[in-house]
Amino acid sequence: TIRDKGIVNNKLSNALMQKLEKEGIPTHYVQEINDRDTFVKKVEIVPLEVIVRNVAAGSFSKKYGVPEGTALNNRVVEFSLKSDELGDPMINDSQITAIGVATQAELDELRAMALRVDELMTELFAKCGIRLVDFKLEFGRAGGELLLCDEISPDSCRLWDAETNRKMDKDRFRRDLGNVLDGYRDVLARLQAAHV
Ligand code: UDP
Repeated sequence: TIRDKGIVNNKLSNALMQKLEKEGIPTHYVQEINDRDTFVKKVEIVPLEVIVRNVAAGSFSKKYGVPEGTALNNRVVEFSLKSDELGDPMINDSQITAIGVATQAELDELRAMALRVDELMTELFAKCGIRLVDFKLEFGRAGGELLLCDEISPDSCRLWDAETNRKMDKDRFRRDLGNVLDGYRDVLARLQAAHV
């Protein structure tokens, strides 16, 4: 348990969702009601994790033998099937449509939205001296529309200090680097200072 992490993530995620909504990304966000609770639109979650990578790290580095921090020739979009039982296996478009998880039209839209979110967040974090290495998004269906859902926080993004490459995300916990919440608080403070 990391005390008060939920409060920091609630604030961070809501600030990012509102910013993205203003920039034309439809999201589930409605209203923050207190430190730990937020009203969101009811959706049917698309059972996919949509991952965007700007820099090699984590499972990508391990799987393909590319050292962490290596710049990529192009951005990568990956899908994983959301299933704890199966260990969230990576899945491609034809596999997704074959088993009826989403249609090709939905996948095209998810991919386009994820890349647009990447552009907006890369710019936003760059203004705060933070490098957006990679992140995971989830989407939901509501009223015939796809909405950005779940949370966007240091639990779902790799965020490195632009000057020192210091990790400010969940890898501080996963790799036992200490000061987990300090990293999260630093991200929030920098976004607030940039009026996000
Ligand atoms: N991620 C996540 N939830 C997951 C898997 C990944 O939020 O269940 C995020 C992770 O924090 C990172 C990005 O997606 O920002 C890419 O993760 P990766 O595939 O490298 O897996 P990891 O190394 O995090 O297990």
